[in-house]
Amino acid sequence: AGRLAGKRALVTAAGQGIGRAAALAMAAEGATVIATDRDAQKVGELGARGIIHQPLDVLDDAAVQRAVKEAGQIDVLFNCAGFVHQNTILTCTDEEWDFGFALNVRAMWKMARAVIPGMVERRHGAIVNMSSACSSVKGAPNRFLYGTTKAAVIGMTKSIATEYVTQGIRCNCLCPGTVDTPSLHDRIADNAAAAGSVEAARAAFVARQAMGRLATAEEIAALVLYLAAPESTFVTGQAIVIDGGWTL
Ligand code: NAD
Repeated sequence: AGRLAGKRALVTAAGQGIGRAAALAMAAEGATVIATDRDAQKVGELGARGIIHQPLDVLDDAAVQRAVKEAGQIDVLFNCAGFVHQNTILTCTDEEWDFGFALNVRAMWKMARAVIPGMVERRHGAIVNMSSACSSVKGAPNRFLYGTTKAAVIGMTKSIATEYVTQGIRCNCLCPGTVDTPSLHDRIADNAAAAGSVEAARAAFVARQAMGRLATAEEIAALVLYLAAPESTFVTGQAIVIDGGWTL
């Protein structure tokens, strides 16, 4: 059987990191997973694991419409795509601002907007949005645009949850601390010069979690699974922190 047996789940940014781990976790629980990513090659690797995959750039409105139409019934949407800009209120550029909101916020709106009519028809659906502990939950240095966009994700999540609370659709978001994923390695590399070394830059990220370690993508995927599965049917509109004690 499995906790998601008979369910169909669409995942954005499933090519690597948390999206990939969530796609695998949901498939392991019996869901038919449609894994999408801008990077066709990366998401294509999931084909060997028996997962339906297709390229999808969530910034492309027409492609989003098409992908959702082709996917047919969608019981679970995991809106995972997002980018972490490292900037402050003074260094953030107009281009970064527009890109950050387009990817981290607007694309989630467009994805959710595309799947909701089908969910309303079936009076059934779970939308899981990717926020961050760095959002309205907590500030972090050099995360001006990122924290601003991820706070917006929490607001959007509560709005969707409110509109559809009596129609069988739940919407929640998760707020992870620092997770060991490929893009974190890029951020560590970007910070190495300022921190003195790659090791020092990595240690600074590790130190944020009171547990003294990073999360694995699989630990975060377990929460995505919970929010997607029937065991969370009374949970909606929540921003759930999963951060190894960063916000303690
Ligand atoms: P990642 O950043 O390593 O990978 C991101 C994936 O998104 C890549 O496969 C990339 O191809 C894809 N992508 C980028 N732009 C896209 C687009 N326009 N359309 C479709 N796909 C696109 O993965 P990650 O670190 O697991 O991050 C995933 C999400 O989790 C992001 O929203 C991020 O903000 C959030 N998050 C990450 C951490 C962390 O520490 N890694 C912590 C909290 C929240």
